[in-house]
This record gives sequence, structure tokens and C-alpha cells, in this order.
Amino acid sequence: MNTPNESLPRIAVLATGGTIAGQAGDASKTAGYKAGVVGVDKLLEAVPALSQVARIHAEQVASIDSKDMSIALWVTLAARINELLVTDHIDGVVITHGTDTLEETAYLLHLTVKSDKPVVLTAAMRPSSALSADGPLNLLNAVTVAAHASAAKQGVLVAFNNQIHCARDVTKTSTYAVDAFRSPEIGALGWVQDGRVEFQRKALRRHTSQSQFDLRNALPAVEIVASYAGASRAAIDAFVATGVKGLVIAGTGNGSIHASLHQALADATKKGVAVVRSSRVGSGHVMRNGAASDDSLGSVSAGTLNPYKARVLLMLALAAGITDPGAIQQIFDTY
Ligand code: ASP
Repeated sequence: MNTPNESLPRIAVLATGGTIAGQAGDASKTAGYKAGVVGVDKLLEAVPALSQVARIHAEQVASIDSKDMSIALWVTLAARINELLVTDHIDGVVITHGTDTLEETAYLLHLTVKSDKPVVLTAAMRPSSALSADGPLNLLNAVTVAAHASAAKQGVLVAFNNQIHCARDVTKTSTYAVDAFRSPEIGALGWVQDGRVEFQRKALRRHTSQSQFDLRNALPAVEIVASYAGASRAAIDAFVATGVKGLVIAGTGNGSIHASLHQALADATKKGVAVVRSSRVGSGHVMRNGAASDDSLGSVSAGTLNPYKARVLLMLALAAGITDPGAIQQIFDTY
């Protein structure tokens, strides 16, 4: 790399693994590779242009396939980001991550990073060894965004395939395409291309330095149960028997719940289990449903959060001691 330019922003790149750090034996293969095997130094070496954009401080936080992301690693990652951003020597953070659970990690960080400095996640759909690997350009674009003044106070961002998304809204929508991420209905916040960063909207829900949440208390067990034709109450009963503190329903349509699940949830709420209704549809919002369940069971509407993000918010709310359904609803209306 060239001698670093002292006037450039200092960006910490925290690597966690994923396909961006994946390797296959054959360059023509874009599936059937091993994720999370290439170290952060090699990822950076593949992008010499980074030295024109930022002074990089690199750390290997983990080397996992993000399908195996754990709450323990979330806690470590959030703590490290907060530790770095509170200092004067780091101006922004980029996290390289697998695509599978990127949206969950991004939203968790959106709610628990206590800084207005830029935090940007990126990833890749093709392993680093593939023809037309997308990781190097995604990494360059993510660092370009993190080094840009306009990325401050935007919450946690996801830079992927030239688009800049809000951590709250972004979701993986393709199993194979390089434009795998979308923010359904709401759209991306902006774009990054050839060094140019442009934001065209702002995230209005509360996040980062304005968030009331942190990871000081252990996150309670919250599980997700889908509603579908012929669903039985077995999964809910089993989760309740394990002592789960919250359940997110990936409901049909407007977060609607099969009658057999509804009966099980009525029993669960009597035992103090918090219930949030989201939708399995993939876009749109979930409206409160009055007597159908929100008023009768004390369930809460997830609004525009998908089931996986609703689980993150419910865990944080319960960890903060918020258990009353009205108060949980207020949290879902705010974040
Ligand atoms: N399974 C990989 C991961 O999430 C997929 C990817 O990164 O695209 O780590």
C-alpha cells in the first residue's frame, strides 16, 4: 500500500467473516465455497485504492459464516465499535459481515452504538476467489461512505452494490444475485459510486446516540414462530416450556395469526410472555388489530419491522425492563 495520507479520515475495518472472506477451489464457483476463511489483511490487500480514501485500522473480530452469528458475538462487536468510536483516533467503522444475518446485526448496532460517527456494514454475494467477486468494490464503497462527512448521524448503514441502506429497513431479498439487498417500500437512503456519496433521504426513527438501548443486561430469549396453513401450537408450547420471555409471530398478511397459534399465545401471555406480531409477507406494515389479538391478548404490532428485526427490538426492550404491552408498542412506534 502507498504511504497513508495524514489528512484522510481514520476508518476501522472490523472483519467478522462471511462470503466476502470466502474461498472456493474453483474461480467459476459462486456457491459451495467456505465462508469466513480469508483474513482482513488479505481483504484489504485486494483493494489498493483504499489508501486514497482512508487510513485503515484493521481488526479480525471473528471468522464465521454469519448463519452462525451469536448474541455473544453481537455483544463483543458492539462493545468494540463503541470503544473505538469514543476515541479521537477513529472517525468511522466498517464491518465486513456475511449476508445471511447482516440485517439483524445491522439493526442491533443501529440501536446500541452510542455515536454519531459513521458505521457501515458491507458484505458480498460471491466469494473472494470468484470471477467478478463483488466484495472488493463493496468494501471500497463502504469505506468511502464511512469516510464521508454526510454519513454522520445517519445511524448504522449498509453499503452494498452501490446502494446505501438504513440498517432498520434493509433486508436480503435474493439467495444469489449481487443486488441481494433492498429496503422494501421505503427504498435506499442513497448511493455510492466512483468515490461519490449521495444521500437522498434520512432515517427518521430513533437510533444510535439517541437510542435508549444498550447491551449491559443479558438479552432474554425471544423466538420466532411462523403462522401458515395447518399450523399447530406445538412450537409455541415448546418455546414457552423452555422459559422464553418473548415471541415474535411471522404472521400471514397483516400479522394475522392462525386460530391454533392464537390459543397457545393466549396461554403464553398469561405466563408473562411478550408477543409481537410481524408479517411474513416481506413488505408493507402491520397495523394494530384491536380485538382480534392486540386488545384481547396484549400483543404488539411490529409496524414495518420484519420478524428478525422485530426480535432484535423486543430483546432489547425486555432487557431494558420494558414488559408492559403498551410500553412495548410505544417502543415499536419509536424505533
Ligand atoms: N453464508 C454466508 C454468510 O452469511 C453468506 C454470505 O455472506 O453471502 O456468512
